Amino acid sequence: MNLYFIQEKIVNKEIKSIRGMHDYLPKELKIWNHIEIILKEVLTSYCYLEIRLPILEKTEIFKRAIGNITDVVEKEMYSFKDRKGNSLTLRPEGTVGCVRAILQNCLLHNKKNNKFWYLGPMFRYERPQKGRYRQFYQLGAEVFGLDKEDIDLEIIILTYRLWKRIGINSYVTLEINSIGSKKDRFQYKKALVYFLKKYENLLDEDCKRRLYTNPLRILDSKNQDIQKILKEAPLLSEYIDISASNHFKNLCSMMDSHGIKYIFNPNLVRGLDYYNSTVFEWKSNKLGSQNTICAGGRYDSLVQEMGGQKTSAIGFAIGIERLVLLTKSLNIFSEKIEEINIYIIFIGDHNKYYAVNLSEEIRDVYPKLKIFINFSNQNIKKKIKNAINSSANIMILIGDNEIKKGFFSVKDLKKEKEYYLLKYELMIKIQKIFK
Ligand code: ATP
Ligand code: MG
Repeated sequence: MNLYFIQEKIVNKEIKSIRGMHDYLPKELKIWNHIEIILKEVLTSYCYLEIRLPILEKTEIFKRAIGNITDVVEKEMYSFKDRKGNSLTLRPEGTVGCVRAILQNCLLHNKKNNKFWYLGPMFRYERPQKGRYRQFYQLGAEVFGLDKEDIDLEIIILTYRLWKRIGINSYVTLEINSIGSKKDRFQYKKALVYFLKKYENLLDEDCKRRLYTNPLRILDSKNQDIQKILKEAPLLSEYIDISASNHFKNLCSMMDSHGIKYIFNPNLVRGLDYYNSTVFEWKSNKLGSQNTICAGGRYDSLVQEMGGQKTSAIGFAIGIERLVLLTKSLNIFSEKIEEINIYIIFIGDHNKYYAVNLSEEIRDVYPKLKIFINFSNQNIKKKIKNAINSSANIMILIGDNEIKKGFFSVKDLKKEKEYYLLKYELMIKIQKIFK
């Protein structure tokens, strides 16, 4: 073992990333990139525009929009004071920053396409486990200015297309509910608390606390005993006003006529206060307990609450790590993406110049090819062995002999054939092999 590797081992023991925050290594990123390309292509095909937002925002905007008594604000935010004493927060989600940005940059126009997407890390101080991290990536999409159920439907169709393109559509199910307006929920909360108080002794610690802070979240409890109690509880759907109720009915019948399968889950609620009316989640039973890969819904009051004009809105966020976990667990993605297409070996340091020059010329003509020059001080035998063991289709040898004669020694590593080619012949060969 050489010194370089010994040093690396010592460093690894002493310096570690923060709990719940991970490195994304090249092997893993192959799936990530594959998925990200699909996500971007599909969103673009529905005319969504990319927007990039800061990771830090003023703490106040999250508190106001997400709600002071939500888990996220109460105990999950990474907040700190900057040098001037202003409280800042590492964004726990993207919608709030997106609304802030579209207001600040006056991006909302009545007659325009107001659809946006963004991708990036979010931060929540949660208990790390499979599918739950303290830094995680979300792809978020938001649509402004459309109040009819057509856009709810389009978003659901769009997300379904994502799963189809990735190849996971048979392993996910859509759950959907309507949570009405703030006023509806206020009335419902009173009825729910009244009902649950009768069972207070049977509630777990979490639910007991929520009974006085955020009772709707009890509906979301994963505790089976709580779910049993809830079977008798009043239903949120019975407290929803006529317009939200019609909106939901229309959406369901439109989904039926488009053949979209969904489960009506009357206990589906969202952890953030700004949601109203339609809410939905895409879940998979292949992920264990962190089973939601995408969650979204309407938030028709947030733009106004943040200082804008009254504007309807709807959005969703996909947890990329969970999507990657699911894709990996199904083995539907072949990791055989080649790291190297052309492997160049020069013999003798003085021929390095020709190797670099040739690789640049090939890149000029074939910009998508991955060309690797072995710059190491390995002997020629070792270099050739490495080329054979790599994913490269061709190996090019550049030595004194080749330079003198103006030929390149080229080996087709898949067909195990050797050629001596002039440069233009080499270019034609490359085109034939990689067409
Ligand atoms: P959960 O109930 O799983 O905590 P949530 O309701 O807090 O999710 P949202 O705020 O709606 O989640 O986020 C949307 C999506 O982002 C989730 O469905 C999930 O896929 C992903 N997500 C949320 N929190 C985390 C986390 N801590 N680690 C990894 N992914 C996450
Ligand atoms: Mg959560």
